[in-house]
Amino acid sequence: MEDVIVIGAGIVGLATAREVLRRKPGSSVLVLEKADDVATAQTGHNSGVIHAGLYYAPGSLKARLCRIGERATKEYCEEHGIQYSSIGKLVVATDDLEVERMGKLAVRAAQNGIELERIDADRLSELEPHVRGRAALLSPATGIVDYREISRAMAAEVTDLGGRIVLRSQVHAIRESASDVTVESSTGTHRTRRLIACAGLQADRVAAMGGLDIDFRIIPFRGEYYQLPHDRSDIVEHLIYPVPDPELPFLGVHLSPTIDGRVTVGPNAVIGFSRERYPKGSVSLRDTADFATYPGLWRFAKGQIRTGVDEMRASLFPRRYLELVRKYCPSLTLEDLHPYPAGIRAQAITHRGESVEDFLFRSTGRQLHVCNAPSPAATSAMPIAGLIADQLDGAA
Ligand SMILES: Cc1cc2nc3c(=O)[nH]c(=O)nc-3n(C[C@H](O)[C@H](O)[C@H](O)COP(=O)(O)OP(=O)(O)OC[C@H]3O[C@@H](n4cnc5c(N)ncnc54)[C@H](O)[C@@H]3O)c2cc1C
Repeated sequence: MEDVIVIGAGIVGLATAREVLRRKPGSSVLVLEKADDVATAQTGHNSGVIHAGLYYAPGSLKARLCRIGERATKEYCEEHGIQYSSIGKLVVATDDLEVERMGKLAVRAAQNGIELERIDADRLSELEPHVRGRAALLSPATGIVDYREISRAMAAEVTDLGGRIVLRSQVHAIRESASDVTVESSTGTHRTRRLIACAGLQADRVAAMGGLDIDFRIIPFRGEYYQLPHDRSDIVEHLIYPVPDPELPFLGVHLSPTIDGRVTVGPNAVIGFSRERYPKGSVSLRDTADFATYPGLWRFAKGQIRTGVDEMRASLFPRRYLELVRKYCPSLTLEDLHPYPAGIRAQAITHRGESVEDFLFRSTGRQLHVCNAPSPAATSAMPIAGLIADQLDGAA
């Protein structure tokens, strides 16, 4: 019998296994991961940004945990010799509406205790000669890292602390009784006192397997990127973001220097026809049927038709995609957009058609499921793990 089984070796699952073992050395912790490596899903296909936490609703888990996570992530990198850089972020407003939204964003960031500097157009072009805008917010704490490296370091810690990570182990059934939880996987049957599911794009299915009565479905949103050619990778020094539309759950196409010296452009947000296949045009009949028959998605889509069509156009036509970036970086051309792998976000949408904004957890007597952990959950993985471990301690 295990003390704890964790489903999923993305950054949230690994941070959780690590935290449990650090708090209770000697306990038996087993991580079951269906892929053939750690961090292959969202954790391995993201923008690599250490978010400072400016965007999130004051008082939300995202606001609190991101702020703690930004520092924890940098400290972790320092302790483990992982390269990161606090290059800072500029949120650039290009027209009246965006200037107004930027003002509201600055208020929100202040409520969240995030350090920001408001800069004018002249200062912006001093800092970033290739970027144009009416004004911008500078977040000096925002940084970049490779979350796969952090995940690998966490996986090594888990095994050093006596935990086990079993790869190619897909969980397909969960049964809870008064005394334990039985987990059936492709590598065998396991019993545990507590089960923690950190299954990302499969969170709804794994929660349903565990017998939870859930009122949401995971909808896959593809985030498609390009990268700039190497001779343009000095075009920006900071992360350059547009001012987000407050009605949308995503941050808009940005320019991101990466820790390995590239600059990525993206991601957009279009519905994915597969939760786990990355090449463009990938279709899974099961995944498509799941969302096509889900009334919550149609309710959500009703309010987003214009944005959905715009995003789809940008996905299909690189020229349209380019327009989004040229708004603030006009010197970019179509020739600058080189292919780069896409990511797929797991976003919970409720039956009522609302996108779940905050991190969401659901539990039963012996199970805890991380049901919604979109961005900034990579930044916030360690404090999320702390929260989960607190719940286990409370239940012990
Ligand atoms: C395009 C994109 C850009 C992003 N940018 C950022 C960013 O810059 N900064 C940031 O902080 N966050 C960002 N995020 C969000 C961040 O990547 C995720 O919030 C985070 O990686 C979630 O980690 P996770 O461990 O919950 O999920 P995942 O990394 O998706 O891991 C879940 C794991 O569970 C496994 N699994 C699922 N079902 C089963 C099963 N039945 N049995 C066994 N294993 C199973 C999967 O194989 C997978 O490995 C971005 C996400 C995307 C997609």
